[in-house]
Amino acid sequence: MKIIDRIQSGLTLSFEVFPPKSDKPLEPLLDTLDQLYTLRPDFISCTYGAMGSNKGRNLEVVERIQSSGSCEALSHYTCVGNTRADVESALEEYAAIGVENLLALRGDFPAGVAHTNGDFLHANELISFIRERTDRFSLAAACYPEKHLLADSLDADIETLLKKQDAGASFLMTQLCYSVENYLRFIERARKRGVTLPIISGVLPLLKKDGLVRMTLSNGCSIPAEVSALVGRYGESEESFRSAGHDFTVSLVQRLIAEGTSGIHLYTLNRFDDVEHLVYDAGIREKPQANR
Ligand code: FAD
Repeated sequence: MKIIDRIQSGLTLSFEVFPPKSDKPLEPLLDTLDQLYTLRPDFISCTYGAMGSNKGRNLEVVERIQSSGSCEALSHYTCVGNTRADVESALEEYAAIGVENLLALRGDFPAGVAHTNGDFLHANELISFIRERTDRFSLAAACYPEKHLLADSLDADIETLLKKQDAGASFLMTQLCYSVENYLRFIERARKRGVTLPIISGVLPLLKKDGLVRMTLSNGCSIPAEVSALVGRYGESEESFRSAGHDFTVSLVQRLIAEGTSGIHLYTLNRFDDVEHLVYDAGIREKPQANR
């Protein structure tokens, strides 16, 4: 099923996982996936060779998700290192395992590299290329509520969303953003400029102080005063920070839903317990009687 059809029938819940390194077993992730299915997600996405590495395992994980019959698989796919012929054969591989949904990205570059080293420079070119070849896939694209770190301005970055929309993307998925105010400013400006695609909100649960600092800085995202206050108050105690971060994330998710987001996409970091609590406490899914 195409994810865009699910989005059109109401709020979606989805998760992101990443494949293990090539020398590590797949089983721990498969166990986590089995647990995540119990939360009845609409789809689970799997990252693709961050920094252009470890591509092979993406296909393996995506195949497991799709063949589980529990939800749709959304495979991330990037321009990094991929020629036209590579894309064509990847599309055949995804089609052969029943995948109907792709997130088309430029991709992160390895350190010291400033080019995709493939036939496409930007995500919109990849989207156009896929669209010209087949209608089989529902194509998602990335967007950045606080702008992509290389974009000159938020407005310039929004212009590139129009290119992705015109190229044939079906919906957008956001980078993490802990500021609802910045998120709403982005939505307002994008809608005013003519971006009509549904937008799913990416949420990285706030659980560890070091992870928060690393992820926000490396993605060019801001740390709002409310979050800085949590770091100041609870940063020295892992347990207290986790608990306060959970409450903050529950409230963030509830505010995004109240503001009309098309879906909540949780960056799970391949964990289950924290995600489960979040999904139930935010009221996205009802806790089964036996677990109450
Ligand atoms: P683009 O849309 O190409 O944008 C990149 C930059 O170029 C931006 O500054 C933009 O403003 C500008 N730009 C865009 N189009 C044009 C154009 N036509 N002409 C001139 N400038 C333009 N990375 C991975 O490697 N693997 C993953 O699995 C992965 N998953 C992700 C999932 C999500 C939800 C998100 C938000 C990001 C993910 N990333 C992943 C990171 C992503 O690859 C990086 O953020 C990358 O730097 C940009 O990707 P993009 O598709 O937004 O690129």
